[in-house]
Amino acid sequence: MSKTFDVIVIGGGPAGMMTAITAAMNGAQVALFEKNKRLGKKLLMTGGGRCNVTNNRPVEDLITHIPGNGRFLYSTFSQFDNQDVMNFFSERGVALKEEDHGRIFPVSDKSATIVNTLKDELENLQVELHFKEPIEKIIADDSVIRGVRTAEGDYSAKSVVVTTGGITYPSTGSQGDGYRFAKSVGHHVTPLYPTESPIFLTDSFITNKTLQGLSLQDVKLSVVDDRNKTVTSHEMDLLFTHFGISGPAALRCSSFVNQLLREQENVTLKLDCFPEKSAIQLLEEISERSSGSTKQLKNALTSFLPERLLLFFLEQVDISEQTYNQTSKEQLEAFVSYCKNWSLTANKTFGLEKSFVTGGGVELKEINPKELSSKKIPGLYFAGEVLDVNGYTGGYNITTAFCTGYVAGTHAAYNAFA
Ligand SMILES: Cc1cc2nc3c(=O)[nH]c(=O)nc-3n(C[C@H](O)[C@H](O)[C@H](O)COP(=O)(O)OP(=O)(O)OC[C@H]3O[C@@H](n4cnc5c(N)ncnc54)[C@H](O)[C@@H]3O)c2cc1C
Repeated sequence: MSKTFDVIVIGGGPAGMMTAITAAMNGAQVALFEKNKRLGKKLLMTGGGRCNVTNNRPVEDLITHIPGNGRFLYSTFSQFDNQDVMNFFSERGVALKEEDHGRIFPVSDKSATIVNTLKDELENLQVELHFKEPIEKIIADDSVIRGVRTAEGDYSAKSVVVTTGGITYPSTGSQGDGYRFAKSVGHHVTPLYPTESPIFLTDSFITNKTLQGLSLQDVKLSVVDDRNKTVTSHEMDLLFTHFGISGPAALRCSSFVNQLLREQENVTLKLDCFPEKSAIQLLEEISERSSGSTKQLKNALTSFLPERLLLFFLEQVDISEQTYNQTSKEQLEAFVSYCKNWSLTANKTFGLEKSFVTGGGVELKEINPKELSSKKIPGLYFAGEVLDVNGYTGGYNITTAFCTGYVAGTHAAYNAFA
């Protein structure tokens, strides 16, 4: 082997950078290998280029916002949590601010502030940074980790941490190498699927582009299984596109849609445009706005819903040209049913390469949750999106990456000195 370290970290995303920093803070000699010429390429893209560093919700809420095995992270968050992430950056002079839904950003509104802070810390701690040097394989014998191999040669270490991310946006360097490394030493990888992804709908109003470009605020989108049971619901903003729906509510539902699509051809979504009001309240409000009026419903109900959606719903019930008094109770109820319980039909989401987060990953049953170490190969650790953990966008995946990185880095260093 050409060179020896205590800890080798594979991948320079948020998980890898935090792993390397923490291992070095614990006194380990650390090398970090990144296949790109710079650190944190994907992290730079988050939060619209402003870097959604973490989320300020209580730990219990973090877990519920990580629908892909969030409970596995109890032990991780008991060692390092979102408050620790914020303290980490504050102590290094980064001013942070909170925005909607608890999302935390640097006050600078620049991802580079976060990535540069991590890079400075890596350099201060004398972590050896190897850019443009992808790891080709991990080396293990007698079921013990020995090191890694690159085109330049072999490097040995007592601990190796895989932080190669998922397989989405492969141009960022996250190309699924870690799954290959895990499998090469006997680990299993659960099926990979797109999450935090826009959803395609087959409904004719999409083909007709009737609602394309329309955005709705604080609506409730639910995923319903074939027994008509609600699998998940999210009250957030939604956008109609030329292929279906996007926006936070759609992204959050997407992993559940993909899981159901393994068994079914289509998945039903329900949209409630008035989650705070009951059907009876809506009928009363419609009556207050339009009963006794000589105006057609499409004119009497302006501002009740965005204009295009109002017209669309009225046309579905064939009452757009009628006045309130010309409309039957059944027709009004059918109109309200569209407002509260509109059925949409999904048949796919974007593929993995264009989704924000990978669902599935390294099988968690084979990972010790306290240390994030392999139960199969002593000295091997995993952190970040390569694990079978996925959260909603809004800082939950980045929090997972930083916090699992901290835990893996700490225990990888302890292992190197054991
Ligand atoms: C557009 C976009 C927006 C997002 N927005 C949010 C958001 O708002 N909130 C949120 O929580 N999450 C968001 N995410 C998800 C979040 O960015 C990821 O979950 C997070 O970056 C995962 O961190 P990681 O360190 O595990 O992996 P990554 O950030 O993917 O880093 C892995 C690194 O490993 C390197 N690598 C891979 N293989 C090798 C190899 N063989 N040798 C050397 N290096 C290797 C890669 O080049 C890469 O730099 C977003 C993702 C995208 C694509």
